[in-house]
Amino acid sequence: MSYIPYGRQDIDDVDVQSVVDVLRSDWLTQGPAVPRFEQALADRCGARHGVAVCNATAALHLACRALSLGPGGRLWTSPNTFVASANCARYCGADVDFVDIDPRTLNMSVDALTEKLARAEVEGKLPDIVVPVHFAGLPCKMDRIAELAERYGFAVVEDASHAVGASYQMVPTGACRYSDITVFSFHPVKILTTGEGGMLLTNRDDLAEQLRLLRSHGITRQPEQMMGASHGDWYYEQLDLGYNFRMTDMQAALGYSQLQRLDDFLARRCWLAARYGELLAQLPVGTQVQHSDAQSAWHLFPVRVAASSRRAVFDHMRREGIGVNVHYIPVHLQPYYRELGFGPGDFPEAERYYAEAISLPLFPSFTKDQQVWVVGALRRILGQ
Ligand SMILES: *Cc1c(COP(=O)(O)O)cnc(C)c1O
Repeated sequence: MSYIPYGRQDIDDVDVQSVVDVLRSDWLTQGPAVPRFEQALADRCGARHGVAVCNATAALHLACRALSLGPGGRLWTSPNTFVASANCARYCGADVDFVDIDPRTLNMSVDALTEKLARAEVEGKLPDIVVPVHFAGLPCKMDRIAELAERYGFAVVEDASHAVGASYQMVPTGACRYSDITVFSFHPVKILTTGEGGMLLTNRDDLAEQLRLLRSHGITRQPEQMMGASHGDWYYEQLDLGYNFRMTDMQAALGYSQLQRLDDFLARRCWLAARYGELLAQLPVGTQVQHSDAQSAWHLFPVRVAASSRRAVFDHMRREGIGVNVHYIPVHLQPYYRELGFGPGDFPEAERYYAEAISLPLFPSFTKDQQVWVVGALRRILGQ
């Protein structure tokens, strides 16, 4: 069997044609494909505004800027995530701290968050922003996080890079029912792809306006936003220090086309995940515990094996041509974050999970036969 990656994009002829059409059109960037994709994804998720950007890392950075995070500010996130969920605060000169995970759901523990907030209130060090990460596509317990946000006055940015198509209490992730902003990633291993790309969804008009401004240099061409009188039709004003974080029209056209296939992707991922559950039932591996009010988008299929055998299992699977991976090295253990004072033992559940973690392949074109092969390889190395 040829090499099986842990995740990969699924591009069909319609996707290809939609990009080609843009290449032959008048607009490669700043054209109509971007607002069309923004509107379609916002509609699908039930949010008022969508703001497309060049990747989710930029989206998280813009979210922090739009929420006025700056030096002296604080952002808390999960240690079981990609570094970008934390780095966004550092770009703004703010401090980062982490909240340990629930060992069953592998998401930020709401109990740990509750305790940490109580301590932080006493110390006068409450966070300005909390970034829950919907790990592997499973939504965090957002209603409880929103209650805490109300009580302690912090903003909530959902890092839903894994979770486009997920839902919580029957409401799509991205509706921002319990958050200020939701961020999606369209990197090729994620659920939908635009090559590189990301989107911010929000229901707040003020945030959407800030996000659009900051995405494009902090420049406006709208007279009602300007400080002074227009000099003529060429006139624009830079109101803030923004960036060029724009998505191209080729990317947006691909995203729009991929979005038409989202339900198919989700059905396939969900089916494969359920089947993994059955195939793995007799093996000594742990799986992410789902909760009844959430429907995962199944970006990843993480399993836990004994820490003493994780390295051997990983190496064996890779030798068999199976592109397993590990999600995630706890962010606080990265040298950059150790330099800021974090270290081993700070978030023990995330560290224990990391020592046992392996992500098995999961993507729409992953076949039944490939899945049987993957589980067989795992069974052999585990000596079952
Ligand atoms: C992929 C990912 C990001 C970053 O996304 P990019 O689009 O690659 O910048 C951020 N957070 C999480 C949890 C991710 O998985």
